Amino acid sequence: MNHDQVREVDPAVADALEGEVDRQRESLQMIASENHVSEAVLDAQGSALTNKYAEGYPGERYYGGCEYADEVEQLAIDRAAELFGAEHINVQPHSGTQANQAVYFAMVEPGDKILSLDLTHGGHLSHGHPANFTGQLYEVEQYEVDPETGYLDYDGLADHAAEFEPDIIVSGYSAYPREIEWERIQTVANDVDALHLADIAHITGLVAAGVHPSPVGVADFVTGSTHKTIRSGRGGIVMTSDEYADDIDAAVFPGGQGGPLMHNIAGKAVGFKEALEPSFEDYAARTIANAKALGESLSENGFSLVSGGTDNHLVLVDLRDSHPDTTGGDAEEALEEAGIVLNGNTVPGETRSAFDPSGIRAGTPGLTTRGFDEDDCRTVGDLITRVVDSPDDEAVIEDVREEVAVLCEENPLYD
Ligand SMILES: *Cc1c(COP(=O)(O)O)cnc(C)c1O
Repeated sequence: MNHDQVREVDPAVADALEGEVDRQRESLQMIASENHVSEAVLDAQGSALTNKYAEGYPGERYYGGCEYADEVEQLAIDRAAELFGAEHINVQPHSGTQANQAVYFAMVEPGDKILSLDLTHGGHLSHGHPANFTGQLYEVEQYEVDPETGYLDYDGLADHAAEFEPDIIVSGYSAYPREIEWERIQTVANDVDALHLADIAHITGLVAAGVHPSPVGVADFVTGSTHKTIRSGRGGIVMTSDEYADDIDAAVFPGGQGGPLMHNIAGKAVGFKEALEPSFEDYAARTIANAKALGESLSENGFSLVSGGTDNHLVLVDLRDSHPDTTGGDAEEALEEAGIVLNGNTVPGETRSAFDPSGIRAGTPGLTTRGFDEDDCRTVGDLITRVVDSPDDEAVIEDVREEVAVLCEENPLYD
């Protein structure tokens, strides 16, 4: 993949773009929120639709010349409807955060109450963190996972909700390795007369493929990111029932955004078409099998996994038991040097800080896209172990980097 046209105009940017392709090819992308889209999705995202203003919705635009924009957006909506079965779908949010923003803007007023999972327990900034607009506009309290098991504490959530009486309960997480029981959270929301926003950002692809239970038809609102497990390019999506359709559409545009990113909506349409193929269900199932294999390998090598394992695409390692002197940041840095890219992450009961956390989070969506199987992922678990056991040993890092290169060659990307 070269960028000849960019190179003619701007060699500096072309160097960086080609450098990025090589970086993705030659190292293991294990950031759990990342993936590799197909060249068809890249092609759609690089299309002339980036030129088009299409404020409004298909058939009701504020600008002329929207016939192809209409076609593309309607295809994205129809395919999402087939994937998720939602009554109403808006594919315009620029990202998952903007999808959440639309739900809050439509349904709650400044000062209203949000109950969401604590960030250090796996939540997301857009669920009420003080640094995010949600933490500044709304009154936020947070629930937690059970510190013993690492699983969501549904009874604790029910007690907290009864006491706090939130207007909206947010579920769906950034670093939670277990299946989410949407109905149990919905029951809590019903009992306290709260709305329920299920944010499936990380697991949008797993839900689409049917390998994780769907909150569609359970929660009032379902938001997602389109660039994570569903592999459809950067963006967001909101799904709801007919009851809230007009409110959500108005909150996306003109409420929170201007012109839609039509080239990204084309990417979503193409990615969703790919996700409707039977091979995508297989991809999603292999992503989970690979995460389980990675988790088993790490456990066998002495690491503690939050909740003891995984049901989805990621594992969360608590380094405090096995490597008390190594922070998540230290591990992240040494692993990156060895060609394994993942992130330091907070863990439930965090005793350090978000900048210097006690865990690492590792996901298999990207590796699975480039063809890694369970044996490969067990090997990756061994490689991670060798580096984290000796983060300052240059010889170990060099050795592991060579083994990473072999795995990358066996599983080519964008060739
Ligand atoms: C990734 C993520 C989002 C959306 O993030 P964007 O970067 O704005 O797309 C929202 N919620 C959760 C739980 C996430 O993990």
